[in-house]
Amino acid sequence: MDSGAGALHLSSSLLELEDRIRWKPMASLALARQYEQQAMALGDPLLAARARLCQANMQSRSGDLAGATRQIWTVFDWASEHQDLQLLARTHLIWANVHRNLGDAAQCLEQSMLSVELLDDTATAHMQIWHRVKLADALCMSGMVEAARVRYRQSADLAVELRRPELLLGLLNNWAYWELATDNFAEAQQVAGQLIEHARDHGYDLTPPDLDTLGSIEIAVGRPAEAVRLVQLAIQQHGLEGQDDADTLAECNLTLARAQRSLGAHGEAQDSLDRCRTLSVERGLSEVLVRAHQEQAELYAAQDRFAEAFAEHKAFFAAHRRLRSRQREAESLTRQAMFETAEARKEAERFREQARRDSLTGLHNRRYVDENLPALLTGKTDVAVAVADIDHFKSINDQLSHAVGDRVLAVVATVLQREQLALAPEGFVARLGGEEFLLVLPGVSAGAAHAALDRIRLAVGCHDWAGLTAGMPVTVSIGVTHSGLLPEPTQPALLAVADRHLYAAKRQGRNRVVTGCPEDGAGLQPATTAGVR
Ligand code: GH3
Ligand code: MG
Ligand code: MG
Repeated sequence: MDSGAGALHLSSSLLELEDRIRWKPMASLALARQYEQQAMALGDPLLAARARLCQANMQSRSGDLAGATRQIWTVFDWASEHQDLQLLARTHLIWANVHRNLGDAAQCLEQSMLSVELLDDTATAHMQIWHRVKLADALCMSGMVEAARVRYRQSADLAVELRRPELLLGLLNNWAYWELATDNFAEAQQVAGQLIEHARDHGYDLTPPDLDTLGSIEIAVGRPAEAVRLVQLAIQQHGLEGQDDADTLAECNLTLARAQRSLGAHGEAQDSLDRCRTLSVERGLSEVLVRAHQEQAELYAAQDRFAEAFAEHKAFFAAHRRLRSRQREAESLTRQAMFETAEARKEAERFREQARRDSLTGLHNRRYVDENLPALLTGKTDVAVAVADIDHFKSINDQLSHAVGDRVLAVVATVLQREQLALAPEGFVARLGGEEFLLVLPGVSAGAAHAALDRIRLAVGCHDWAGLTAGMPVTVSIGVTHSGLLPEPTQPALLAVADRHLYAAKRQGRNRVVTGCPEDGAGLQPATTAGVR
């Protein structure tokens, strides 16, 4: 496969992982890591970033929130720098997920809103629907159930319009779950009814999470026998599908225990609860474990075993406290990861800036010139361009010292920059190398260029050098040209002419300015100003 076909293939494999609502987290994480390596081998940074975001999604689903956050930041950086709206929208969705797991409803809502706002016509149909569903979930989490219902309905219409019945099924599950979680039992039941009907109409089997939601609703509305039937079906299906998310199975056993207790089947309830607890301990599902303690206390109380119920309540509170402190730890790790990434970004910016500065004088360097002068030259404003070179600089080094030479360079730089700011604040001064400087002065006309540069020449010569050079004069020769004087004022053309004029200034005796046009004689006549201080 050539690399173009390879990238296309990888992109569609990634899309398969991106546009889903249920995953096997561990297997998908391994797959996403593999995809990232393939993307790197292909030298494709977009595909690599997409693979990293998939990893972040799986990490957040398996509880590694700090790791997820670090990945999300790198993807966010890349996507914002490259203005990739689709990837940005996806990034905010995963971010919302992390905040939901941290229990931060406000941040979850903020990120979910961004994930919808950033949808444009590059977004897939899946994103158009599912990002709105997750926004509705986030609204529920913040207690805005009415606003959420509007969003759920919009997403449902969109799912029908875009012919995505499987997403409508997922949507109805989330909707029913959140109606139940916000104690709106009648609405939960009504949405659950739609879920069942929709699954039947399209020949879908209800998934274990669907069945668990339905079971919980049945318990809430006082029909525990129906709940037992549904959840047992979920557990049976879970075994068939061999999913690797232990959460679902543990959750189902807990729901089953609650339903069985309501039916008075205490022995069976105890068995279900034990299974739930074993799974939770095995897989480190702290949150489920806490709720299992609570259910155990209820189960003892239902059998009038009050001393044990009391002891279990105490265990519940202790486990709850431990969980909260672990959550706080994860939260602080996540914040730490966010902080570190922000620091690294600032560091990179500093580095980028440094790479465009000359370390001795603090002026811009040649790289900055190459990146910025061409754009200035294509603008509307005329630009005077000059090259200034210190006269007999070698003697300063030789007679005083290299260190004094360095300080002279720094002072000349300061004088040049001060004068440039006064004359043309939109312009800049750069050190081209050695004792040679470039002055770029937008808005200085061809007619005014000579006088302007002569003022700069005098400012250098008239500086009080006594303290630094013990009476040795420091002067500059300057070669000038102007964008208005060249038929094609490109950077190389202007620099070549300015250089030629500098050479002429040196030849004519130094400490002077030579302005002019190319040898064809059009425009201004060459003019020189003899170096008198
Ligand atoms: P001219 O008037 O013809 O320009 O003579 P000049 O002596 O200024 O020019 P020349 O090119 O012969 O010498 C430039 C010197 O600048 C040589 C080099 O050692 C010195 N130089 C270049 N970079 C630095 C620097 O960063 N610090 C110091 N102190 N000297 C430097
Ligand atoms: Mg020189
Ligand atoms: Mg030189």
